[in-house]
Amino acid sequence: MDDFFKEMQNPGIPPTYKCCVGGIWKDSTSSKTIDVISPIDNSILGRVYQVTHEEIDESIAKAKKAQKEWQKVPIVKRSQMVHLIADWIRQHEVSLTELLIVEIGKTYADAKDEILRSADMIDYFANEALNIKGQELSGEQFPGYDQSKLALIERVPVGVILAIAPFNYPINLSVSKIAPALVTGDAVIFKPPTQGAISDLYLTEIIRRIGIPEGLISTLTGAGSEIGDYLVTHPGIDMITFTGSSQVGKAIAEKAGMIPLQFECGGNNPAIVLTDYDPETTIGEIVKGFCSYAGQRCTAIKYVLGLKPTIDQIILSVVKKTQEYIKMGDPRDKTVTMGPVISEASVADIQRRIDEAVKGGARIVYGGKIQGKMIEPTILENVSSDMDIIKTETFGPIVCFIRVSRIEEAIEIVNKSTYGLQASIFTKDEGAGISVARQLNVGTIQINSKPQRGPDHFPFLGVKGSGVGVQGISYTLESMTRFRPIVLSKLQ
Ligand code: NAP
Repeated sequence: MDDFFKEMQNPGIPPTYKCCVGGIWKDSTSSKTIDVISPIDNSILGRVYQVTHEEIDESIAKAKKAQKEWQKVPIVKRSQMVHLIADWIRQHEVSLTELLIVEIGKTYADAKDEILRSADMIDYFANEALNIKGQELSGEQFPGYDQSKLALIERVPVGVILAIAPFNYPINLSVSKIAPALVTGDAVIFKPPTQGAISDLYLTEIIRRIGIPEGLISTLTGAGSEIGDYLVTHPGIDMITFTGSSQVGKAIAEKAGMIPLQFECGGNNPAIVLTDYDPETTIGEIVKGFCSYAGQRCTAIKYVLGLKPTIDQIILSVVKKTQEYIKMGDPRDKTVTMGPVISEASVADIQRRIDEAVKGGARIVYGGKIQGKMIEPTILENVSSDMDIIKTETFGPIVCFIRVSRIEEAIEIVNKSTYGLQASIFTKDEGAGISVARQLNVGTIQINSKPQRGPDHFPFLGVKGSGVGVQGISYTLESMTRFRPIVLSKLQ
């Protein structure tokens, strides 16, 4: 690996990576390290530390101090510095892509796309931040007041932001938190996912080197189940931005107290196919929707609803397209379109869910075989909406088909879900699509596309168990600042 990243790792095979405590690479005083194992071949890629409570305290104290200085730097300068992160990510695109492939099992195309899209997102954040504006209001607009009261409404950074990212987009979903925080004048305590931590330590080194004050970002590795509670309840944290499962999100929300929360949690996304669907688009989007990154995306399609004749028509085409599109294997081979799932625990969970569904009467139309961490894309039918495989998120390449007797029944099933990230509707009639969309209680509705995050300046949000708050360039920037009204009352 590149000399640029030499300082953060100890020599050795596999290397032990330092943690970034108070902005400085250090070997943790804790004796505990965690092996980061490649999902491709189970090799140990490296070891990361589990930081101590003292290291967390030290990092947060330094972040507070650094933030006070950083917020005084003019935003145009902060924006220029944040652009450098994007430049350097592009410069290190090849190493970062290779790292994502081996650390989280992404295909070459997906890994490269994640890196480049992250750089584009950072640039957009840095540009858009220049539009952050305060406001001026006069009292005279409200009955009983006059021009003697004037409010100068400033937008100021919230302070120290705890950013917690998931394994499935360790670069993209980290920069979607870190870049807006830095450009708006906040400091960051970054808790990377353990699987994905190495990629995020590389990212940290890029960020550290743009010349920000020491301690403005610290990257604290360790199992979320061990260090998470201490971090999320720390009195020095002013806001939490989290992406991960609904289960962990809810647990954090219950403990965090009265600070702003920005949560993107699990998705369990349906696709509703109306009778006048466009076959090519619908089949193609369903297959990519459930198979991309082996189904390990919050925006994956998990079940497809339609009238009986519609489902009867499309299900075999979905099987055929899956066979054409998917080449399973080692993602270091650039022609492979689907790699392994992330861990043995994940394999066991997916296997249990398929077995339970089959026991409950579901039929495997295609796939179902598991070898090591490679899961065949699996298509199930005769699935009912009260099965666990529909009620909760399966983080693997599984899609279930449900035949309904009326479209209203499909809408009821979607709205009954405890999740509400996205839904897709497939139809040639945009008016009919919008009419169904308006009846769905989910964050975003896609008409004639699989669910997806992006373009990144669109609002992205989940309702119910899928999240709190809104992301998307300008929305995220807003969430990381707060109003500071200064009210002037003119002396008579
Ligand atoms: P996860 O298990 O919930 O972990 C997410 C992050 O939280 C990791 O950094 C994890 O650390 C940390 N964590 C775990 N327990 C914690 C605790 N008690 N306190 C504080 N932090 C804790 O999720 P994942 O398996 O990495 O990611 C997959 C999930 O994320 C799926 O449910 C997916 O739908 C969701 N997701 C949602 C979106 C969205 O935009 N809505 C996007 C991507 C992913 P460790 O890694 O050390 O456990």
